[in-house]
Amino acid sequence: MLSRVRLGLGIRRRMVKAPLDPARIAWSFDIYSWLAELEAGHWVLDIGSGEGSFQWACLGCVAALDEDPKSFRNAPDRDPSSYHRVCGRGDRLPFGDHSSDLIICHHSLEHLDGLERVLGEMARVLKPDGRLYVAVPNGYGLCDAVYRFVFEGGGHLSRFAREPLAGMIERTVGVRLARWQKLYSSFAYLRRLMNLMATRPAGLSRRLRRLGRFPWALGAAQWVLYLGSRLADRVLGTDFGVYGWALYFDHGSGAPVEDPPYVNVCLNCGAGHHALSVHRPYPGVYRCKICDRVNPFVRPFRNSA
Ligand SMILES: [Zn+2]
Repeated sequence: MLSRVRLGLGIRRRMVKAPLDPARIAWSFDIYSWLAELEAGHWVLDIGSGEGSFQWACLGCVAALDEDPKSFRNAPDRDPSSYHRVCGRGDRLPFGDHSSDLIICHHSLEHLDGLERVLGEMARVLKPDGRLYVAVPNGYGLCDAVYRFVFEGGGHLSRFAREPLAGMIERTVGVRLARWQKLYSSFAYLRRLMNLMATRPAGLSRRLRRLGRFPWALGAAQWVLYLGSRLADRVLGTDFGVYGWALYFDHGSGAPVEDPPYVNVCLNCGAGHHALSVHRPYPGVYRCKICDRVNPFVRPFRNSA
């Protein structure tokens, strides 16, 4: 009992008083590092883009591909001279051979049918020196399990583990894994579901209608999962808060590098933030750089940033 009290007080003291150590968490690689390296004339192919995988302004041109034209309806305005929305399938990419400098597959690969064919098409359209970014959920993790339960599968057609997937991509696309990063979750889909219930949409499944009777419980569950998973990961060394991985492939050589994950992820929009990059208006909270909502601030632990 005494040790538990000491453990609890120790964590609280470190969380409240110890300053962040810029020497340990000063920098982390993410997709914006690659987007910033794009030059005029470069082409980015965003497969399964929906409204757009990232809010970015880059020098290259973007082809945002999605099978469902309805996914473009609520997309923000973009410069039509450099951002092109295209309806098409991942396993029949409507682009020429060796036409893409960077392919982005941001939480879309698990939704695509015919994985081998999709990867084969990526190999065809990627330039010989092109790069490939893939972010997928851990198909055996807590976040994906909750998602699959709430949305009764949620359209996830594939269930991935990191190393087998990375090996499959390397063999099929002809690239090598250069870097990878764990992605922490904010269980933001529960927030989106809670907001959706306020509009009382038609055509929901029986399970969603039942869950929708208690929208406050969805919000409460998100907070419990968010904070509880991070506390468990900090104290027990688990990965309950990790949603999946970001995988970065190129045509170089050498062993892959693991980059520090961002443990602060917006409860509203799901964007991850480096702990030293966020504005913290009050102790214990930070403001999301994407949607401006205030979130609880979690001190980085283990190798997180
Ligand atoms: Zn946000």
